[in-house]
Amino acid sequence: MAELILRNLVKTYGGTPVLHGIDLEVAHGEFVVLVGPSGCGKSTTLRLIAGLEEVSDGTVEIGGRVVNNLEPKDRDIAMVFQNYAIYPHMTVRRNIGFGLRSAALPKAEKERRIEEVAEILGMTEYLGRKPGQLSGGQRQRVAIGRAMVRDPAVFLFDEPLSNLDAQLRTQMRLEIKKLHQRVGATIVFVTHDQVEAMTMADRIVIMKDGHIQQVGTPADVYHSPANTFVARFIGAPSMNMIPGHADGAGAIRLASGGILPFPVPLAAGQRVTVGVRPEDLTPAGDGPALVEGPVTVREPLGHETLIYIGGEPGEIVAKADGRMPPGIGEPVRLGAASENVHVFDAATGDAIGYPSNPAHS
Ligand code: ADP
Repeated sequence: MAELILRNLVKTYGGTPVLHGIDLEVAHGEFVVLVGPSGCGKSTTLRLIAGLEEVSDGTVEIGGRVVNNLEPKDRDIAMVFQNYAIYPHMTVRRNIGFGLRSAALPKAEKERRIEEVAEILGMTEYLGRKPGQLSGGQRQRVAIGRAMVRDPAVFLFDEPLSNLDAQLRTQMRLEIKKLHQRVGATIVFVTHDQVEAMTMADRIVIMKDGHIQQVGTPADVYHSPANTFVARFIGAPSMNMIPGHADGAGAIRLASGGILPFPVPLAAGQRVTVGVRPEDLTPAGDGPALVEGPVTVREPLGHETLIYIGGEPGEIVAKADGRMPPGIGEPVRLGAASENVHVFDAATGDAIGYPSNPAHS
C-alpha cells in the first residue's frame, strides 16, 4: 500500500506557478529521493507534504487519508532539516525526547522509546552528553533520533547532509542507508546531489522547473534516461551529446562524421541527439566510430584518466585506463555498444523509443 500519495500537486506563489501538478506514490518502507537543480521545486514539494505550506491545488495523502487541512503536527510525519537544530544546552536524551514533547504518552513510555531509538542509532552510551561533546556525525544521529522517536508514517529529509564536510557526508549517507535497511522507514529525501540520490534511493524522482522529468530506480534513470535533461543530470562527467540526423534508411549520420545503425524507423532528415556516457566510449578498432580525433586534454584520476577529444563546441569526454591513457595529440577512434547509445529527439529532448513512463507527463 502506498504510504504517501501526491495527486496533481500544484503550488503558486503570487500567481507564479512553481509546481505544475506533481503525481507521486511512495510505498510503505520505500526510500524515495527528490533530486534536481536549485529552484526546481524539491523543497516546496517536501514542505507541502509536511504542511508547512498550503497547497494551491491537488491532494496530499498520508497513510490513506487526505491531510491537506491538517496541521504539520497531526500529519504523522517527522522532518530532518539541513541545519538540524539540536539544542546545545540539552542532553542527547532530552534532545531526542524533544520529538515527543507534544505526544500524549506516559513518561515511562517516552523513556522507553528514547532508549530504543538511542539503541538503534548506537547512541545509548551518549544519552547523558550534550551536543558539544559529540562528533558531527553523532549530532546528526541525534537529529534523526528526534524524528524517529515519534515513529512517524513518513520521514522527510531536507538536504540534511549539505552542511557537512565531504568525508562526513559520505559517512552519514551510508549510515542513513543502513538505518533505512534496518528499520524499513518510509523516507522522502531531498537533495541537489545526484550521487547522494543514486547511492541512497530505492527510487529517484528527477525534477526540473516544477515538473517531474522521470521516476525510476537508480539503474532505470542511469541506463534509460527519459530525456536529455535526465541523461545529463545523472552521471559524472555528464553524458556526451552528439548532434545528428536520420538518413531515412535505418541509420543516423552524426555531425562528428560517424554513422550509427538505428532500428527505430525515423523520417529522413529528422534531427536527433545521440548520447553516450564517457565510460561507454571504448576503442572502436576497425569498427564504426562515434568519435574520432586527437586527445586535447587529460585529467588523471588514478584508476582512470578522463580524455577530451576535439575542441569546443562538440568536445567529447571519455574514460581511459589510468595506467596507459593515450597521449595529448594522439588520434583516437571510439565507439560504443548499441545498448549504451541513447537517441533523443533533438527538438523535444525526449528519448526515442523510451517506454512511456506514467510519471513523465
Ligand atoms: P529547490 O528546493 O528545488 O531548490 P524550491 O522548492 O525551494 O526549490 O523553490 C522552487 C521555486 O519556488 C523557486 O523558483 C523559488 O524561488 C520559488 N519559491 C520558493 N519559496 C517561495 C516563496 N515563499 N515565495 C515565492 N517564491 C518561492
